[in-house]
Amino acid sequence: MTEPLVKWSYKGEKGPHYWGHICDEYEIAHTGKNQSPIDIHMEKVMEVQGAPPLELDYKETKYTVRRVENSVHLFPQSKEQGLTYGGQRYNLIAFHGHVPSEHTLNEHYFAMEWHLVHMNEAGERLVLGIWMEQELEGSDFGELASVFPEVFADFGIEKELLLDVSGFLPENRAYFTYQGSLTTPPTFEGVTWIVLRDVTSIAEEDFEAFQDIIEDTNRPLQALGDRQIHHSA
Ligand SMILES: [Zn+2]
Repeated sequence: MTEPLVKWSYKGEKGPHYWGHICDEYEIAHTGKNQSPIDIHMEKVMEVQGAPPLELDYKETKYTVRRVENSVHLFPQSKEQGLTYGGQRYNLIAFHGHVPSEHTLNEHYFAMEWHLVHMNEAGERLVLGIWMEQELEGSDFGELASVFPEVFADFGIEKELLLDVSGFLPENRAYFTYQGSLTTPPTFEGVTWIVLRDVTSIAEEDFEAFQDIIEDTNRPLQALGDRQIHHSA
């Protein structure tokens, strides 16, 4: 098989500091004022009473697992799950993880961060971020840890997996939110970020399997600029 060209990287001359100069399409990485990820610093966070509730309704679904660029992504075969936020419905379209976390809390990096990527009818993106720390026992990833290296090795390999992402989520729905971008090129803006405040756990064994493949897939922190981070009270 022919490997599709991976146009960007996490290190070297195609690394994050150069993304904005690789091609015109990626320019926003360099010129954008609403880029992600950011440090969520509690001193800069505004607590909002009566913030829009976040209603999550994920269920056990079949996912297609395959390599995308520098990572492994999972695509739900049914779009009938997702979340409701601010009166709008967003369906889950894909998810993936980063090691270590991309967003930080008071400059603290967590072991891992999952990104559940959603889209509403208007085509607007909302990404739900979930922080995880390594523990002895953790979230149920099913067969994902064993499938991960297999699909990463070859762009032509696809696997199917039954998974329920609600098994990753903390019980508390408190969240941070701000307006940002995708964290991989092209780092388009107009993305609503919701990062769950509570941290869940990942078992050491699963973490090591993911770490082997996607270690250092975190884009460096971007300037907050004039943006406001809200915290649901
Ligand atoms: Zn991501």
